[in-house]
Amino acid sequence: MEVGILKRADGSAYVEIGDNKVIAAVYGPRELHPRHLQRPDRAVVNCRYNMAPFSVEERKRSGPDRRSIEISKVTRLALEPAIFTEYFPRTSIDIFIEILQADAGTRTTGITAASLALADAGIPMRDLVSACAVGKVAGRIVLDLTKVEDNFGEADMPIAIMPRDNRITLLQMDGTMTEEEFKEALKLGMEGCRKIYKEQRRALKEKYGQGD
Ligand code: UDP
Repeated sequence: MEVGILKRADGSAYVEIGDNKVIAAVYGPRELHPRHLQRPDRAVVNCRYNMAPFSVEERKRSGPDRRSIEISKVTRLALEPAIFTEYFPRTSIDIFIEILQADAGTRTTGITAASLALADAGIPMRDLVSACAVGKVAGRIVLDLTKVEDNFGEADMPIAIMPRDNRITLLQMDGTMTEEEFKEALKLGMEGCRKIYKEQRRALKEKYGQGD
């Protein structure tokens, strides 16, 4: 993980987790146009998740599709609770996530990168947001699935948390698990998120020094 990699963005980050390679850029808070979209009491958070055509095995057609529109929305919802949007009325905070290489878990890698980019932009936050996916493959609960495991496994569950108070800001699930398996998966997933949190803090300290 590395922060501050782009010159023109207010905040940016590059994150590699397994074979996922992701860049996030943040612009703002900046005055929102057109003005009728402004909120008098808070900043509006916009988010765009985009997969590069060369990021996957079979070339992905460029431009938004149903999947990327959904991921953009859940990513925004996962990050918004961490941001003090009320400090910046009438502005927008724009988050761009570009997936350069994908191997399952790109939405969680994107959230992890975007949270670092928000911090790099100096946007006041309650906590970082740390994310990873957990799932069930061949009857076992496993952390951070690869694409093959994601495609042939029984379940895939992306999770994002604000680690300081263990608040969950994203929890989705494809497939099925028993209640016991779900509990085990949630525990393992949250442990994974805490590991990601450590790495995020290390990346920020690398650029900004030792302060908390
Ligand atoms: N994928 C792909 N082509 C697509 C969409 C996804 O090859 O058009 C692959 C990619 O490796 C992605 C994985 O399928 O990471 C799993 O996608 P999913 O929708 O579960 O989202 P993710 O796990 O990346 O958050």
